[in-house]
Amino acid sequence: MTTHAVVIAGGGPTGLMLAGELALAGVDVAIVERRPNQDLAGLRAGGLHARTIEVLDQRGIADRFLSQGKIMQVAGFAMIPLDISDFPTRHNYGLALTQSHIERLLAAWVDELAVPIHRGLEVTGLVQDDTGVDVALSDGRSLRAEYLVGCDGGRSLVRKKSGIDFPGWDPSVSYLIAEVEMAEEAPWGVRSGEKGINALGKLEDGKRVRVVLIEPNVMPGDTPTLGELRDALVAVYGSDYGVHNVTFLSRFTDTTRQAASYRERRVLLAGDAAHVHSPTGGQGLNIGVQDAVNLGWKLARVVHGTSPESLLDTYQAERHPIGARVLKNTMAQTALMHGDERTKALHERVSELLKMDEPRKRYAAMMSGLDIHYDLGAGHPLLGRRMPDLDLVTESGPRRVFTLLHEARSVLLNLGEPGALDIARWADRVQRIDARYTGVWELPVLGPVAAPTAVLIRPDGYVAWVGDGTDMGLHEALTTWLGPPRHD
Ligand SMILES: Cc1cc2nc3c(=O)[nH]c(=O)nc-3n(C[C@H](O)[C@H](O)[C@H](O)COP(=O)(O)OP(=O)(O)OC[C@H]3O[C@@H](n4cnc5c(N)ncnc54)[C@H](O)[C@@H]3O)c2cc1C
Repeated sequence: MTTHAVVIAGGGPTGLMLAGELALAGVDVAIVERRPNQDLAGLRAGGLHARTIEVLDQRGIADRFLSQGKIMQVAGFAMIPLDISDFPTRHNYGLALTQSHIERLLAAWVDELAVPIHRGLEVTGLVQDDTGVDVALSDGRSLRAEYLVGCDGGRSLVRKKSGIDFPGWDPSVSYLIAEVEMAEEAPWGVRSGEKGINALGKLEDGKRVRVVLIEPNVMPGDTPTLGELRDALVAVYGSDYGVHNVTFLSRFTDTTRQAASYRERRVLLAGDAAHVHSPTGGQGLNIGVQDAVNLGWKLARVVHGTSPESLLDTYQAERHPIGARVLKNTMAQTALMHGDERTKALHERVSELLKMDEPRKRYAAMMSGLDIHYDLGAGHPLLGRRMPDLDLVTESGPRRVFTLLHEARSVLLNLGEPGALDIARWADRVQRIDARYTGVWELPVLGPVAAPTAVLIRPDGYVAWVGDGTDMGLHEALTTWLGPPRHD
């Protein structure tokens, strides 16, 4: 039986990102992916939010994405635009780029990192014991792994087979999304309906039409028929406009569910396998990629035996609340987009509120992922927040903070006396960089914060310890995040 330290079920955006993170950390990882290649049927995510672009920048691959998409303000709440151009980040914007391109670029990166992808194969079952997981495949073979991560989407077999509950809310609305041709001219643009927004738009070739349509009744299954599309068009517009020649047609809903636990012993969940919700606000792919970046380095430490298994509990503790918040904000947005007069009046009032500076900043930071704050205890405002990408001066010249994270290793950034802060017993796990920075420290929403004398930055770019001129708490933080000290 072939063995790997980690097997990932599913090579969508989450599985690919996780594979890259594990490979960078030197873990023997393989992906099992049902699709024979990376092609994506239909249309899904339309882009990246600022924090995801930052996360890619931390690995030195953001430019690959930026060069292929269109930089623009993409954050919004219930279709109310939220501008982040005044936010203190190098990427004070989002990126319009379709999921098929995002997956293609991630897959190319994973390829460079030489991660094997078993394509055209499904994970069909799993059995775990004290030392690992037997992963059954659709061709009758099995793989053995120390850990299995289910990145296998909303209908996750890994989640079901490991008995993890998926509580939440059934759909209140189902949408058809399609690319078609129409024999007649239609009222192009957005039309508000009782349950939300419908849209018909001509594509660049002037022939094909993109349709997003609310169905008269909530329908199950993601393979709707042309007849159902015709019925929905007639229900909303009174005509089907001679719809024909379907390029793709699929259905999505606002089903809202979250895995009760992101881990069952040696099985973990990430991305849509752990949380599903309405696509409104464009957050699913983004939080899946960020789940992967939170989990990757932790799983690597545990696999390498440098940290205890309990480090994996911090994945659940940090990412479950982020997922829960996205579920709630999508439910609120779906409710706010109903087209009845009372909801429209409410939407107008909320729009007014979100034009005010403070609410705009708060909501924009939430939707773009720039306000994420992991609860690492009381202390300096940087603790548990994203490390800003400062322009540093180091012994080897000017460096951006994010450049220091390219290899997905922890960094102790010493901004005080060069050579201060003794980390010798963790030297194999953290790089100490002596640097100078004279600018302002500013965080989204919070504004300027006191300049620290040192920060311990985790591989995912979140601050795990903040120095105020002493090393108080540093060794505890190193032990928590990087494992116990080495005894020579
Ligand atoms: C219409 C629509 C618009 C959206 N717009 C946005 C947006 O603008 N922004 C955004 O961030 N998100 C958006 N989303 C959500 C986004 O598409 C998902 O959140 C994202 O694809 C989740 O990535 P994932 O890798 O976790 O799961 P998936 O993309 O579902 O990938 C799972 C992978 O696992 C494979 N797989 C499944 N089962 C098995 C198995 N048993 N064995 C092996 N392989 C398996 C699948 O083939 C697939 O490749 C949208 C979704 C929809 C439907």
